[in-house]
Amino acid sequence: MNEQLKLLIELQELDTAIESITDNMELLPRKLAQFEDPLKESRALSESIKKKAETLNKKKHARDLELDDVQDKINKLKTRSSDIKTNKEYEAHRKEIEVFENNIHKIEDEILVLMEEIEAFAGDVQKEEEKVKKAEEDFNKQKKLIEEEKNRLISEIDMYKAKRNEFSTRIDKDIYDQYMQKVDRLGGLAVVQVKNEICLGCNTNIPPQLYNDIKETDRTYTCYFCKRFLYYQEPPPADENAQSITQSS
Ligand SMILES: [Zn+2]
Repeated sequence: MNEQLKLLIELQELDTAIESITDNMELLPRKLAQFEDPLKESRALSESIKKKAETLNKKKHARDLELDDVQDKINKLKTRSSDIKTNKEYEAHRKEIEVFENNIHKIEDEILVLMEEIEAFAGDVQKEEEKVKKAEEDFNKQKKLIEEEKNRLISEIDMYKAKRNEFSTRIDKDIYDQYMQKVDRLGGLAVVQVKNEICLGCNTNIPPQLYNDIKETDRTYTCYFCKRFLYYQEPPPADENAQSITQSS
């Protein structure tokens, strides 16, 4: 195999690695968004419970004012007691106070029910706030991990790009230009292996003579069909351990 082809194979490996890392990096925002959903849900739930609690508090406040108002009216009626002259007047006066006092009992009962509800909601509000806090912690933890992952990938890409620069300067300009054209046209894959007379780029059979030439000569060939650079790789020696495991199983 000639030196240029060896460099092309290295370059292809680097470019494939860079592309794969870039793909992984592009997935990171979506990965983070997955962890953001539970946080958003938790915040929304907490807000809606807080709003319900506020509504109850407002209702109770309105009832409190009503209670004061009725109590005022009773007090005013009672100050007029001294003006009463007849039994009939007294009876009417007493009934009037009684109506207001019944009203007071009714309002007090309502306030009691509201206070119980408010107390229950206060517990819920606290519970939901704790859940939001937990969801925030989880999200921030994931955000930090993803940030670290991103930085790791960036430095990996930088490393591969530096290597790439080093290799590409050693490749003849004409061959490098051909490589880049093929990369652009052929989905990033410009250099492929031939195995058992098949181009692994387009999975097409290549003529036996070409297969032999690729194996035996030092020249650089391209696939008739997909036009990718082709290279032949000696199969690795049989792994004796792997074989013995297969046989014993
Ligand atoms: Zn091909």
